Amino acid sequence: MSAGTAPARPLAPVGASFTGIDFSATGKQLGYGHVVHSDNVHDGAIIPVPVAVISSGPGPVALLVAGTHGDEYEGQVLAHELIRELDPARLSGTVIVVPAANSPAVRSAARVSPIDAGNLNRSYPGRAEGGPTEQVAALIAGALLPRADFVIDMHSGGSNSTYLPCAFIYRGPDEELWRAKLRASRLLGLPYVMVVAPLLEPGSLSSAGDLAGVLTISTELSGSGTVDRHALVAMRRGMPRLLADLGILNGAAEAPVEAEPQWIELVPESPVTSTAAGLFEPLVDLGEAVSAGQPVARVHFIDELDRQPRAYHARLDGVVAIMRRPTLVAPGTHLLHIAPLLDPDSL
Ligand SMILES: [Zn+2]
Repeated sequence: MSAGTAPARPLAPVGASFTGIDFSATGKQLGYGHVVHSDNVHDGAIIPVPVAVISSGPGPVALLVAGTHGDEYEGQVLAHELIRELDPARLSGTVIVVPAANSPAVRSAARVSPIDAGNLNRSYPGRAEGGPTEQVAALIAGALLPRADFVIDMHSGGSNSTYLPCAFIYRGPDEELWRAKLRASRLLGLPYVMVVAPLLEPGSLSSAGDLAGVLTISTELSGSGTVDRHALVAMRRGMPRLLADLGILNGAAEAPVEAEPQWIELVPESPVTSTAAGLFEPLVDLGEAVSAGQPVARVHFIDELDRQPRAYHARLDGVVAIMRRPTLVAPGTHLLHIAPLLDPDSL
Protein backbone atom coordinates (compact mmCIF):
# COMPACT_ATOMS: atom_id res chain seq x y z
CA MET A 1 0.00 0.00 0.00
CA SER A 2 1.43 3.40 -0.96
CA ALA A 3 1.52 6.26 1.49
CA GLY A 4 -1.80 8.01 1.87
CA THR A 5 -3.87 5.12 0.50
CA ALA A 6 -6.57 4.14 2.98
CA PRO A 7 -7.38 0.46 3.36
CA ALA A 8 -10.68 -0.57 1.80
CA ARG A 9 -12.07 -1.43 5.24
CA PRO A 10 -10.88 -0.23 8.61
CA LEU A 11 -8.69 -2.79 10.27
CA ALA A 12 -9.86 -4.10 13.61
CA PRO A 13 -8.11 -2.27 16.44
CA VAL A 14 -5.49 -4.28 18.27
CA GLY A 15 -7.04 -6.08 21.20
CA ALA A 16 -10.62 -5.75 19.98
CA SER A 17 -12.87 -8.74 20.56
CA PHE A 18 -15.41 -8.12 17.79
CA THR A 19 -15.62 -6.56 14.36
CA GLY A 20 -18.94 -5.14 13.21
CA ILE A 21 -20.68 -5.46 16.59
CA ASP A 22 -21.62 -2.58 18.91
CA PHE A 23 -23.64 -3.97 21.79
CA SER A 24 -25.15 -0.54 22.51
CA ALA A 25 -26.60 -0.19 19.01
CA THR A 26 -30.04 -1.23 17.78
CA GLY A 27 -30.99 -2.90 14.51
CA LYS A 28 -29.40 -5.96 12.95
CA GLN A 29 -25.61 -6.18 13.12
CA LEU A 30 -23.64 -8.91 11.40
CA GLY A 31 -20.03 -9.29 12.46
CA TYR A 32 -17.62 -11.66 14.04
CA GLY A 33 -15.70 -12.35 17.20
CA HIS A 34 -11.93 -12.53 17.14
CA VAL A 35 -9.85 -15.59 17.78
CA VAL A 36 -6.20 -14.89 17.13
CA HIS A 37 -3.80 -17.70 16.41
CA SER A 38 -0.34 -18.09 15.01
CA ASP A 39 0.84 -21.23 13.27
CA ASN A 40 2.03 -22.19 9.80
CA VAL A 41 -1.41 -21.45 8.35
CA HIS A 42 -2.76 -18.58 10.42
CA ASP A 43 0.35 -16.50 11.17
CA GLY A 44 -1.33 -14.32 13.79
CA ALA A 45 -4.48 -13.87 11.75
CA ILE A 46 -7.98 -13.44 13.12
CA ILE A 47 -10.07 -16.60 12.91
CA PRO A 48 -13.59 -15.15 12.65
CA VAL A 49 -16.42 -16.51 14.80
CA PRO A 50 -19.60 -15.21 13.12
CA VAL A 51 -21.95 -13.28 15.42
CA ALA A 52 -25.26 -11.52 14.79
CA VAL A 53 -26.85 -9.09 17.23
CA ILE A 54 -30.47 -8.21 16.54
CA SER A 55 -31.81 -5.62 18.94
CA SER A 56 -34.60 -3.13 19.53
CA GLY A 57 -32.83 -1.65 22.55
CA PRO A 58 -33.26 -2.35 26.26
CA GLY A 59 -35.03 -5.54 27.25
CA PRO A 60 -34.31 -9.19 27.83
CA VAL A 61 -31.47 -10.82 25.90
CA ALA A 62 -31.42 -14.31 24.37
CA LEU A 63 -28.13 -15.94 23.35
CA LEU A 64 -28.58 -18.66 20.71
CA VAL A 65 -25.52 -20.80 20.03
CA ALA A 66 -24.92 -23.46 17.37
CA GLY A 67 -21.82 -25.10 15.97
CA THR A 68 -20.33 -25.79 19.39
CA HIS A 69 -19.52 -29.12 17.74
CA GLY A 70 -18.81 -28.58 14.07
CA ASP A 71 -20.56 -31.66 12.69
CA GLU A 72 -23.91 -31.00 14.38
CA TYR A 73 -25.98 -29.26 11.75
CA GLU A 74 -29.63 -28.75 12.62
CA GLY A 75 -28.87 -25.92 15.04
CA GLN A 76 -26.53 -24.27 12.57
CA VAL A 77 -29.24 -24.21 9.90
CA LEU A 78 -31.75 -22.79 12.39
CA ALA A 79 -29.30 -20.15 13.60
CA HIS A 80 -28.65 -18.88 10.08
CA GLU A 81 -32.38 -18.80 9.41
CA LEU A 82 -33.04 -16.79 12.58
CA ILE A 83 -30.31 -14.30 11.66
CA ARG A 84 -31.97 -13.71 8.28
CA GLU A 85 -35.56 -13.63 9.48
CA LEU A 86 -35.59 -11.99 12.93
CA ASP A 87 -36.77 -8.39 12.50
CA PRO A 88 -35.52 -5.96 15.14
CA ALA A 89 -38.81 -4.04 14.79
CA ARG A 90 -40.59 -7.10 16.23
CA LEU A 91 -38.34 -7.43 19.26
CA SER A 92 -38.54 -6.02 22.77
CA GLY A 93 -34.95 -6.78 23.58
CA THR A 94 -32.04 -8.51 21.91
CA VAL A 95 -31.22 -11.81 20.26
CA ILE A 96 -27.54 -12.67 19.91
CA VAL A 97 -26.89 -15.53 17.50
CA VAL A 98 -23.61 -17.44 17.24
CA PRO A 99 -24.21 -19.90 14.37
CA ALA A 100 -20.73 -21.47 14.18
CA ALA A 101 -19.26 -21.20 17.66
CA ASN A 102 -16.24 -23.44 17.13
CA SER A 103 -15.83 -22.05 13.64
CA PRO A 104 -12.65 -24.02 12.76
CA ALA A 105 -14.52 -27.23 13.60
CA VAL A 106 -17.54 -26.13 11.55
CA ARG A 107 -15.32 -25.32 8.57
CA SER A 108 -13.81 -28.81 8.85
CA ALA A 109 -17.03 -30.78 9.41
CA ALA A 110 -15.50 -32.02 12.65
CA ARG A 111 -16.66 -32.34 16.24
CA VAL A 112 -13.62 -30.58 17.69
CA SER A 113 -11.24 -27.95 16.39
CA PRO A 114 -8.69 -29.21 13.85
CA ILE A 115 -6.28 -26.51 15.08
CA ASP A 116 -5.92 -27.48 18.73
CA ALA A 117 -8.22 -30.54 19.07
CA GLY A 118 -10.28 -28.39 21.44
CA ASN A 119 -13.77 -29.51 22.41
CA LEU A 120 -15.58 -26.19 22.93
CA ASN A 121 -18.14 -27.85 25.19
CA ARG A 122 -15.37 -28.81 27.64
CA SER A 123 -13.54 -25.48 27.42
CA TYR A 124 -15.66 -23.05 29.46
CA PRO A 125 -15.03 -20.57 30.96
CA GLY A 126 -12.11 -20.45 28.54
CA ARG A 127 -8.95 -18.36 28.52
CA ALA A 128 -8.46 -15.23 26.43
CA GLU A 129 -4.74 -16.04 26.25
CA GLY A 130 -5.30 -19.73 25.50
CA GLY A 131 -5.54 -21.71 22.30
CA PRO A 132 -8.22 -21.01 19.69
CA THR A 133 -10.93 -23.11 21.34
CA GLU A 134 -10.27 -21.63 24.78
CA GLN A 135 -10.47 -18.19 23.17
CA VAL A 136 -13.92 -18.97 21.73
CA ALA A 137 -15.10 -20.10 25.17
CA ALA A 138 -13.69 -16.93 26.76
CA LEU A 139 -15.40 -14.80 24.11
CA ILE A 140 -18.80 -16.41 24.74
CA ALA A 141 -18.45 -16.71 28.54
CA GLY A 142 -16.85 -13.31 28.98
CA ALA A 143 -18.62 -11.09 26.45
CA LEU A 144 -21.94 -12.75 25.58
CA LEU A 145 -23.13 -14.87 28.52
CA PRO A 146 -23.04 -11.94 31.00
CA ARG A 147 -25.45 -10.03 28.75
CA ALA A 148 -27.91 -12.91 28.47
CA ASP A 149 -31.11 -13.71 30.34
CA PHE A 150 -31.60 -16.91 28.37
CA VAL A 151 -29.16 -19.22 26.58
CA ILE A 152 -29.85 -22.12 24.26
CA ASP A 153 -26.92 -24.23 23.03
CA MET A 154 -28.15 -26.25 20.05
CA HIS A 155 -26.47 -29.63 19.65
CA SER A 156 -27.21 -32.81 17.70
CA GLY A 157 -25.68 -36.26 17.70
CA GLY A 158 -23.04 -35.32 15.14
CA SER A 159 -21.40 -37.80 12.83
CA ASN A 160 -21.17 -40.49 15.51
CA SER A 161 -24.71 -40.70 16.85
CA THR A 162 -28.39 -39.89 16.54
CA TYR A 163 -30.48 -38.62 19.46
CA LEU A 164 -34.19 -38.57 19.96
CA PRO A 165 -34.94 -34.90 19.21
CA CYS A 166 -35.05 -33.31 22.64
CA ALA A 167 -34.51 -30.39 24.90
CA PHE A 168 -31.51 -31.40 27.03
CA ILE A 169 -31.42 -29.95 30.52
CA TYR A 170 -29.14 -30.19 33.51
CA ARG A 171 -31.00 -30.56 36.81
CA GLY A 172 -30.83 -27.49 39.01
CA PRO A 173 -28.94 -25.37 39.79
CA ASP A 174 -31.69 -24.00 42.02
CA GLU A 175 -35.43 -24.41 42.22
CA GLU A 176 -36.24 -21.18 40.36
CA LEU A 177 -33.92 -21.86 37.40
CA TRP A 178 -34.98 -25.51 37.30
CA ARG A 179 -38.66 -24.49 37.01
CA ALA A 180 -37.70 -22.03 34.27
CA LYS A 181 -35.81 -24.79 32.41
CA LEU A 182 -38.82 -27.10 32.60
CA ARG A 183 -41.07 -24.35 31.25
CA ALA A 184 -38.68 -23.41 28.42
CA SER A 185 -38.20 -27.06 27.44
CA ARG A 186 -41.94 -27.68 27.25
CA LEU A 187 -42.50 -24.52 25.18
CA LEU A 188 -39.80 -25.56 22.73
CA GLY A 189 -42.14 -28.34 21.69
CA LEU A 190 -39.63 -31.04 20.78
CA PRO A 191 -40.93 -34.61 21.18
CA TYR A 192 -38.69 -35.37 24.19
CA VAL A 193 -37.08 -33.62 27.14
CA MET A 194 -33.91 -35.36 28.32
CA VAL A 195 -32.97 -34.63 31.92
CA VAL A 196 -29.37 -35.14 33.04
CA ALA A 197 -27.37 -34.75 36.24
CA PRO A 198 -26.43 -31.30 37.57
CA LEU A 199 -23.30 -29.88 35.94
CA LEU A 200 -23.06 -33.10 33.90
CA GLU A 201 -20.18 -31.97 31.73
CA PRO A 202 -17.81 -29.55 33.46
CA GLY A 203 -16.67 -26.99 30.96
CA SER A 204 -19.87 -27.05 28.90
CA LEU A 205 -21.86 -23.94 28.07
CA SER A 206 -24.76 -25.42 30.06
CA SER A 207 -22.48 -25.66 33.10
CA ALA A 208 -21.19 -22.14 32.53
CA GLY A 209 -24.77 -20.88 32.32
CA ASP A 210 -25.77 -22.69 35.51
CA LEU A 211 -22.74 -21.37 37.36
CA ALA A 212 -23.56 -17.84 36.18
CA GLY A 213 -27.19 -18.21 37.27
CA VAL A 214 -28.48 -17.69 33.71
CA LEU A 215 -31.41 -19.75 32.40
CA THR A 216 -29.58 -22.16 30.05
CA ILE A 217 -30.91 -25.13 28.14
CA SER A 218 -29.49 -27.24 25.37
CA THR A 219 -31.00 -29.34 22.61
CA GLU A 220 -30.11 -32.56 20.84
CA LEU A 221 -31.72 -32.29 17.41
CA SER A 222 -31.17 -35.74 15.89
CA GLY A 223 -27.73 -35.92 14.25
CA SER A 224 -25.91 -38.48 12.07
CA GLY A 225 -23.88 -35.64 10.58
CA THR A 226 -26.85 -34.55 8.49
CA VAL A 227 -29.95 -32.34 8.85
CA ASP A 228 -33.15 -33.85 10.22
CA ARG A 229 -36.07 -31.96 8.68
CA HIS A 230 -38.54 -33.01 11.38
CA ALA A 231 -36.38 -31.48 14.09
CA LEU A 232 -36.23 -28.24 12.08
CA VAL A 233 -40.02 -28.17 11.74
CA ALA A 234 -40.48 -28.54 15.50
CA MET A 235 -37.88 -25.89 16.30
CA ARG A 236 -39.37 -23.44 13.78
CA ARG A 237 -42.61 -23.60 15.77
CA GLY A 238 -41.04 -23.76 19.19
CA MET A 239 -38.36 -21.11 19.07
CA PRO A 240 -40.74 -18.17 18.32
CA ARG A 241 -43.07 -19.47 21.04
CA LEU A 242 -40.18 -19.53 23.51
CA LEU A 243 -38.85 -16.09 22.51
CA ALA A 244 -42.37 -14.68 22.90
CA ASP A 245 -42.70 -16.27 26.35
CA LEU A 246 -39.39 -14.68 27.36
CA GLY A 247 -40.80 -11.28 26.38
CA ILE A 248 -38.31 -10.81 23.55
CA LEU A 249 -40.41 -11.44 20.44
CA ASN A 250 -43.59 -9.40 19.93
CA GLY A 251 -46.63 -10.48 17.98
CA ALA A 252 -45.48 -14.07 17.59
CA ALA A 253 -48.41 -16.34 17.07
CA GLU A 254 -48.68 -17.87 20.50
CA ALA A 255 -49.36 -21.29 19.09
CA PRO A 256 -50.15 -23.82 21.79
CA VAL A 257 -47.69 -26.64 22.36
CA GLU A 258 -48.78 -29.31 19.88
CA ALA A 259 -48.12 -32.29 22.15
CA GLU A 260 -46.71 -32.79 25.59
CA PRO A 261 -43.14 -34.08 25.40
CA GLN A 262 -42.06 -37.42 26.75
CA TRP A 263 -39.79 -36.84 29.72
CA ILE A 264 -36.75 -39.12 29.91
CA GLU A 265 -33.57 -39.21 31.95
CA LEU A 266 -29.97 -40.20 31.28
CA VAL A 267 -28.67 -42.20 34.25
CA PRO A 268 -25.42 -44.09 34.94
CA GLU A 269 -27.00 -47.36 33.71
CA SER A 270 -28.13 -45.80 30.41
CA PRO A 271 -25.08 -46.55 28.23
CA VAL A 272 -24.74 -49.95 26.60
CA THR A 273 -21.00 -50.12 26.05
CA SER A 274 -19.01 -52.47 23.84
CA THR A 275 -16.32 -54.61 25.43
CA ALA A 276 -15.08 -55.86 22.07
CA ALA A 277 -13.68 -54.58 18.80
CA GLY A 278 -15.77 -55.39 15.78
CA LEU A 279 -18.99 -54.65 13.94
CA PHE A 280 -21.97 -53.21 15.83
CA GLU A 281 -25.37 -54.67 14.98
CA PRO A 282 -28.29 -52.89 16.68
CA LEU A 283 -31.20 -55.16 17.66
CA VAL A 284 -33.55 -52.26 18.47
CA ASP A 285 -34.48 -48.91 16.94
CA LEU A 286 -34.10 -45.37 18.21
CA GLY A 287 -37.22 -44.54 20.24
CA GLU A 288 -38.11 -48.18 20.87
CA ALA A 289 -39.24 -49.16 24.37
CA VAL A 290 -37.01 -51.87 25.85
CA SER A 291 -36.95 -53.85 29.09
CA ALA A 292 -34.09 -54.63 31.46
CA GLY A 293 -32.31 -57.79 30.32
CA GLN A 294 -33.49 -57.52 26.72
CA PRO A 295 -30.79 -58.09 24.07
CA VAL A 296 -30.27 -54.74 22.34
CA ALA A 297 -27.03 -55.10 20.37
CA ARG A 298 -24.40 -57.53 19.11
CA VAL A 299 -20.78 -57.01 18.16
CA HIS A 300 -19.35 -59.33 15.50
CA PHE A 301 -15.66 -60.26 15.60
CA ILE A 302 -13.80 -59.49 12.41
CA ASP A 303 -11.02 -62.08 12.46
CA GLU A 304 -12.29 -64.82 14.76
CA LEU A 305 -14.40 -66.64 12.21
CA ASP A 306 -15.57 -69.42 14.53
CA ARG A 307 -16.73 -67.07 17.27
CA GLN A 308 -20.33 -66.08 18.01
CA PRO A 309 -21.03 -62.32 18.21
CA ARG A 310 -21.02 -60.85 21.70
CA ALA A 311 -24.49 -59.86 22.91
CA TYR A 312 -25.33 -56.78 24.96
CA HIS A 313 -28.42 -56.32 27.09
CA ALA A 314 -30.43 -53.40 28.46
CA ARG A 315 -29.63 -52.69 32.08
CA LEU A 316 -32.96 -50.98 32.75
CA ASP A 317 -36.42 -50.31 31.33
CA GLY A 318 -36.66 -47.28 29.06
CA VAL A 319 -36.53 -45.99 25.51
CA VAL A 320 -33.56 -46.10 23.17
CA ALA A 321 -32.56 -42.44 23.32
CA ILE A 322 -29.16 -42.34 21.58
CA MET A 323 -27.91 -44.67 18.86
CA ARG A 324 -24.35 -44.92 17.60
CA ARG A 325 -24.04 -44.56 13.82
CA PRO A 326 -20.66 -45.90 12.62
CA THR A 327 -20.62 -49.70 12.62
CA LEU A 328 -16.98 -50.23 13.52
CA VAL A 329 -16.57 -50.15 17.30
CA ALA A 330 -13.87 -50.69 19.92
CA PRO A 331 -13.89 -51.60 23.61
CA GLY A 332 -15.44 -48.64 25.42
CA THR A 333 -17.61 -47.46 22.54
CA HIS A 334 -21.15 -46.61 23.63
CA LEU A 335 -23.44 -48.53 21.28
CA LEU A 336 -26.67 -46.97 22.47
CA HIS A 337 -28.21 -45.32 25.52
CA ILE A 338 -31.45 -46.33 27.22
CA ALA A 339 -33.31 -43.57 29.05
CA PRO A 340 -36.01 -44.41 31.62
CA LEU A 341 -39.25 -42.47 31.39
CA LEU A 342 -39.85 -39.73 33.96
CA ASP A 343 -43.17 -38.73 35.41
CA PRO A 344 -43.35 -34.98 34.71
CA ASP A 345 -45.37 -34.52 37.90
CA SER A 346 -42.36 -35.82 39.85
CA LEU A 347 -40.05 -33.12 38.51
ZN1 LIG B 1 -22.68 -31.42 20.56
